[in-house]
Amino acid sequence: MRNHGLGDWIHRRRVRSAGQTALISAGGEQTYDQLAQRIDKLADALAERGISPGDRVAYLGENSAAFLETLFATGSLGAVFVPLNTRLAPPEIAFALQDSGAQLLIASTPLIPLAAPACRETGVQRVLTVAEGAAAGGELAEFPVPVEDFAAALEAGAEFHRDVSVELDDLAVILYTSGTTGNPKGAMLTHGNLTWNAINVLTDFDLSSTDVALMIAPLFHVAALGQGALPVLLKGGSIILEQRFEPGRVLALIQEHRVTNISGVPTTFQLLCEHPTWQDTDISSLRNLTCGGSAVPLRVLDAYESRGLAFTMGYGMTETSPGATTLPPAYSRSKQGSGGLPHFHTDVRVVDPADQPCPVGEVGEIQVHGPNVIAEYWNRPEATASSFVQEPDGRWLKTGDMGYFDEDGFLFISDRLKDMIISGGENIYPAQVEQQIAALEAVAAVAVIGVEDARWGEVPRAVIVVREGHELTEEQVLRHLDGKLARYKIPKSVVFVESMPRTASGKIRKPDLRRQYA
Ligand code: ATP
Ligand code: MG
Repeated sequence: MRNHGLGDWIHRRRVRSAGQTALISAGGEQTYDQLAQRIDKLADALAERGISPGDRVAYLGENSAAFLETLFATGSLGAVFVPLNTRLAPPEIAFALQDSGAQLLIASTPLIPLAAPACRETGVQRVLTVAEGAAAGGELAEFPVPVEDFAAALEAGAEFHRDVSVELDDLAVILYTSGTTGNPKGAMLTHGNLTWNAINVLTDFDLSSTDVALMIAPLFHVAALGQGALPVLLKGGSIILEQRFEPGRVLALIQEHRVTNISGVPTTFQLLCEHPTWQDTDISSLRNLTCGGSAVPLRVLDAYESRGLAFTMGYGMTETSPGATTLPPAYSRSKQGSGGLPHFHTDVRVVDPADQPCPVGEVGEIQVHGPNVIAEYWNRPEATASSFVQEPDGRWLKTGDMGYFDEDGFLFISDRLKDMIISGGENIYPAQVEQQIAALEAVAAVAVIGVEDARWGEVPRAVIVVREGHELTEEQVLRHLDGKLARYKIPKSVVFVESMPRTASGKIRKPDLRRQYA
């Protein structure tokens, strides 16, 4: 019996990287050897509580050693790890627990109130609490299922390595998509998917066993887990786990621990370089800055370049574990706005509605093929059937994103297929219009949606949240766009709202906006 999955990574590192620091967190430092021992004990504790191969174990908590220990312990048992976004509302947590059929929930104490209603309604039979912050004593007394302390359960576990057979095609993690286009779907990430994504990262990035990665983004997002943490652990580097982003503290940690890798969104990097201690912090150790979500503004590029640093950009999604393309730092300026080149072991194509490849420069749907792409969604045969297209050269994931390749093979992302507006036969990519409107200082948030129109089929409408202390009129918005965009792309109307409906990952829920304002 052999374990070829994630569950054995730390054990295989144990000898190769003995004495090397694996994790630094609020709970202290752990070497690979210590981490391997704790994973064994936790795996034993979980098995003692009835967790068998294929069973789902949900985790609700911020970045901590317990999060990664649970990932590896479930992996070593052949069980399935289901990380939950801590910003979900109780009904959304209940949905994920119900949908995944998790029988055990591990939750940090401050989040127990969020999980209590869910445990009443779902198949969760037991809860382990990770002590962090205020203990929710009252909540625990009336909890609907047995509750135990995570640390005590782990300590009582036996220290032996279970001999379980786990293959690369076995399911490792169920991770829910953001639900930007509808209900979240459980992406079924196998050990192979996550391993191949890590191999892609190690191949395309300049990582080494001496790397120190500072994790400020939450591990329950696939970007931080699959792209940030796992490749570093596969390579034998060290990870610092932070629960929230405080620019001053992050700068101090970079200097203290000689941090080499940070990943974040453009705002993360902007806040760091605008912080008063930025100039006086020794950041000479930094080598890998990874930025996702959207393009890094030029003035932020400048601030880092003046200190010898450039960014790696990326495009990906939960279904690709998550890396699809990456833009090497050398191109961050010449190809600004691009998602980059396909990862080394992954193929990306752009196709027309008949799934025929588009010529260079022409916008079509982005499709992805490769060993890091999931094969199916959990309990969603229809979604699985409609999300893949079988070709003689393999099975391609229909990403639902629109984009094009330039003449050098760099991918540019235009928008989501579902967001595309067709007005009088012309395609409008709301992202382009939104970018122009967002440039107005008074705009805090903007979304452009299509509304039915008797003459044009659809016309664009802008929904805007005005920044506090600012004023903005429809006329000012339209005047600003005049001459910057083709006439048909300019919104025919503007609606001002107090706030945007957002997913737990912060993305705007366009279907909700369409329901309300279209
Ligand atoms: P759902 O599939 O449930 O609607 P979601 O697609 O928002 O939710 P995720 O998997 O978290 O869930 O997000 C992946 C999506 O994020 C991509 O399909 C793409 O639309 C967007 N995205 C990711 N990286 C980039 C990027 N660099 N530029 C533009 N968009 C990006
Ligand atoms: Mg998606």
